Amino acid sequence: MSCPRIDVDLHKIRQNTRSIVERLNVSGIHVTAVTKAVCGHPDIAKAMCDSGAAGLAESRLSNVKRLRQGGMTCPITLIRTPMLSQVDDIVQVCEASYNTEIKVIAALAAAALRHNKVHAIILMVEMGDLREGIMPQDLGEIAQQVVDMHGVALTGIGANFACLSGIAPTAEKMRELSVLANSIEQYSGPFLQTVSGGSSANLPWALGGYATGRINDLRLGEAILLGVDPVTGDKIGGMFGDAFTLVAEVIETDAKSVDAFVSYTDPTMAKTRLAPNNSATTRLLLAIGHQDTDAAGLSMPAGTTLIGATSDHSVIGTNDATLGVGSEMRFQMNYGALMRAMAAPDVQISLRNDRPAPNSRDVQGPFKHLALI
Ligand SMILES: *Cc1c(COP(=O)(O)O)cnc(C)c1O
Repeated sequence: MSCPRIDVDLHKIRQNTRSIVERLNVSGIHVTAVTKAVCGHPDIAKAMCDSGAAGLAESRLSNVKRLRQGGMTCPITLIRTPMLSQVDDIVQVCEASYNTEIKVIAALAAAALRHNKVHAIILMVEMGDLREGIMPQDLGEIAQQVVDMHGVALTGIGANFACLSGIAPTAEKMRELSVLANSIEQYSGPFLQTVSGGSSANLPWALGGYATGRINDLRLGEAILLGVDPVTGDKIGGMFGDAFTLVAEVIETDAKSVDAFVSYTDPTMAKTRLAPNNSATTRLLLAIGHQDTDAAGLSMPAGTTLIGATSDHSVIGTNDATLGVGSEMRFQMNYGALMRAMAAPDVQISLRNDRPAPNSRDVQGPFKHLALI
């Protein structure tokens, strides 16, 4: 099989989705699955939708188009504030978008009228992350303006945490969002369909037994894909952390003395490099580099260290003597490494368990035994 590649186990994605959907549904929260880290890969999106996600969310129009071209017909919400230059396309492929700028909403409304549609608007409120969002005190007035426009419908509000600032949402913040939802309804009519509390960073709150109030939606990417809480990096119980595996090929193995010939032009480089201190360590060269992934975001197998990476190469120290030229090495990725690898033109995507067959003993693929657990 070609290298570098990402082996994607769709069975694990389905299980992760089902697991989190079931746990959140108990408290009246549905899951909008976020596909941006996998660049809107339609098969991965389908695995999420088949397993109980209520809809999809994307930050890029190009990824939304890929989802549609791949046959996804479920509701898709754009979670990055739309670019003015893209409004005509957005109203045609997205049912809804998150918005913070009245000028953009007016352009979406005009585009929706041109295309004979009504585009749903969810207003993003600033609650401490200091990335995108309307200040809470301005929300009422902007909501009123949206309600008065033809071509758009105000269907929800949402908040975002832990993206720029790394600050996780508190129960207090979630209560404030519920209060805002109630106050907005005097403008929006009887009911705001969506009150979206945030992302995977909200899971400790959502699963922590707090009152959920008006919050009825979370937008989840990392938790479903990698099974981890993005704020702490901790594994979420009952979720697979290895749905994605990056596979790279060894192109050189040698016994170069680690500190021979090294003269750093940039002194900071010397500090950031980890040199294996074991004389039994073999130094391997892999055909994968910064252009393919974030090498620092790869988890190294036991007995293996990352010595460094450049655009097209990674240098690994290992005490695994069985690895030779042509061998494959397998790595788990963090979110940054996954995101970059999924977007890299030279990284192939290889799908496992791409047909759900939970009731069949005849499950295809090399992981057939896992489907029967
Ligand atoms: C990326 C993103 C999400 C999903 O974040 P995860 O940490 O992957 O769950 C949710 N909302 C917005 C606005 C985002 O940009």
